[in-house]
Amino acid sequence: MATTVVAGLKHPGLRGALGYRGFLRGACARGAQRSSARTPRSEPGPWPPGVEYIPRKKAKNPMKAVGLAWYNLYARTWLGYLLYRKQLQRARHRYPDGHSTVQPRVFNGVKVLPIPVLLDNYSYLIIDTQSKLAVAVDPSDPRAVQAYIEKEGVTLVAILCTHKHWDHSGGNRELRRQNRGCRVYGNPQDGIAHLTHPLCHQDMVSVGRLQFQALATPGHTRGHMIYVLDGEPYKGPSCLFSGDVLFLSGCGRIFEGTPATMLNSLDLIMGLGDDTLLWPGHEYAEENLSFAGLVEPENVAREKKMQWVQQQRLEHRSTCPSTIGEEKTYNPFLRTHCLALQEALGPLPGPGGDAGPSRARLLEELRRRKDQHKGK
Ligand SMILES: [Zn+2]
Repeated sequence: MATTVVAGLKHPGLRGALGYRGFLRGACARGAQRSSARTPRSEPGPWPPGVEYIPRKKAKNPMKAVGLAWYNLYARTWLGYLLYRKQLQRARHRYPDGHSTVQPRVFNGVKVLPIPVLLDNYSYLIIDTQSKLAVAVDPSDPRAVQAYIEKEGVTLVAILCTHKHWDHSGGNRELRRQNRGCRVYGNPQDGIAHLTHPLCHQDMVSVGRLQFQALATPGHTRGHMIYVLDGEPYKGPSCLFSGDVLFLSGCGRIFEGTPATMLNSLDLIMGLGDDTLLWPGHEYAEENLSFAGLVEPENVAREKKMQWVQQQRLEHRSTCPSTIGEEKTYNPFLRTHCLALQEALGPLPGPGGDAGPSRARLLEELRRRKDQHKGK
């Protein structure tokens, strides 16, 4: 079967991007042994320079104590799984055909198929149409994903899981049962259910002509990973499957780690090519653009995108994909370097000295306001 894992920096947009320091060293030992073509790196360890995981014990986490306790119950106990099962039943009843109408994209023999699952999640099936081999990203409703696998007549050989939350990993077990030999990839730091193939930062997963690079992007969870499908082999745009780190005009909540951790992960994504298509884990576009309008009301790019998104949502159509280049023009979480946004947030207390608040402090404030705007 044409599923292999090799390591090494692949995506051209990432060369020279932020370097990594190491909190995954021990955890990735298995991955290192498995990977036979590891490219020598200037620094040991799987984290890019600048992307540093800062645990809550060492730095203040913006979550309130009650929220943190509830989150720990959801993320670390079987209560979370039971809640996910309940949500799954409710969503199947409410949206028997999915919460949105989606349009697959086909590029020279590679098909990207978004699958609307739960109340607002997206799973993805990525198909090499020549070999009929497929990869699923975050298949949280196994029934819905399996239906697409059978409809497309493809063989599922790999699941790429962005992080441990049940609305992204809940279908791993059932899909593995129904698709013999299917491997589950992800970051071992996250304790992903039914993980079979742990990945390190920059590891590659190849299935037919599909070449994915896994990048560690902590902040939403400690072991969050994103996957970049390289467009070069099929002469098309690269595709970013961003899980819960980046959405259209938004970013994920900072559950594990700090604003500085999340900022580093977002900066890593900013280093990808502007043409890269963004396929996020949730349909949050309208809500996110509405919030962006509060902090940057004069942003013309945001206004234009909002008009398009509102039309799409009126007809329950999916709003993905956007591109990284587009996101830079209206996504406030990617614009903490912009003077207009800094002025809109007003004077902020905190470390920054004469240079004003740090970008991490700005991101923290943005995220705080977004959490108050609506809990997403
Ligand atoms: Zn999540």
